[in-house]
Amino acid sequence: MASPASSPSVPIHKTQRFEDFYRLFEDKPGIYKYQEQINDIISKNGDSLIIFYEDLLAFDSQLAEMLKKDPESLIEEAINAFKNTLKFQGSKPIDKDYFVRISTIDEKSPLTIPLRGLRAKHIDTLVSFKGILIRSSPIRPKLIDATFECLVCKTQFNVTQLTSRIKWPKFCIKKSCKAKAQSDFRLISKHSTFIDWQSVTIQEIPEDLPPGRI
Ligand SMILES: [Zn+2]
Repeated sequence: MASPASSPSVPIHKTQRFEDFYRLFEDKPGIYKYQEQINDIISKNGDSLIIFYEDLLAFDSQLAEMLKKDPESLIEEAINAFKNTLKFQGSKPIDKDYFVRISTIDEKSPLTIPLRGLRAKHIDTLVSFKGILIRSSPIRPKLIDATFECLVCKTQFNVTQLTSRIKWPKFCIKKSCKAKAQSDFRLISKHSTFIDWQSVTIQEIPEDLPPGRI
């Protein structure tokens, strides 16, 4: 009995699909662009793979669409696939961070929006725009998952951090413990998770401004 090639109930192995993309995408017949780039990364001891969104769109449009809608989790899959491919191509696993960067080939990319058109609906999605970088902050560590120790009962637990101000626990996770003041808890940096964080200010390029506007 035949069944459809892809039905919604079939789990989508996204990491595997990124691996297929790196391994099988042909720029021109016989030219395996990303496989070559990965070999180059191995020989130069690099850590960053740059992929073009249009290439992914041509190879696996469904995966490209998922990347556009939910870049945060799909980038994780892309990085895992990158690491698996490095391993497969003979690279010894090294305990360091690897990155996958998304770029676009031209201005007609489906990711492109004018800076002026940036709206709330674009939050957490992948977009591309042209602009002039006018200010950038130093790169600072940003706390994203804090580990606290309760000084009363010594229990340790994590609190997810969503803003730049540290969110302290309002009570201890141990039900019988009465701790609730900020001074009852201690932040343990070495068990917490930080990311490198930078803010940038970008201005529209003069050609994109409507006539008569500055
Ligand atoms: Zn406690």
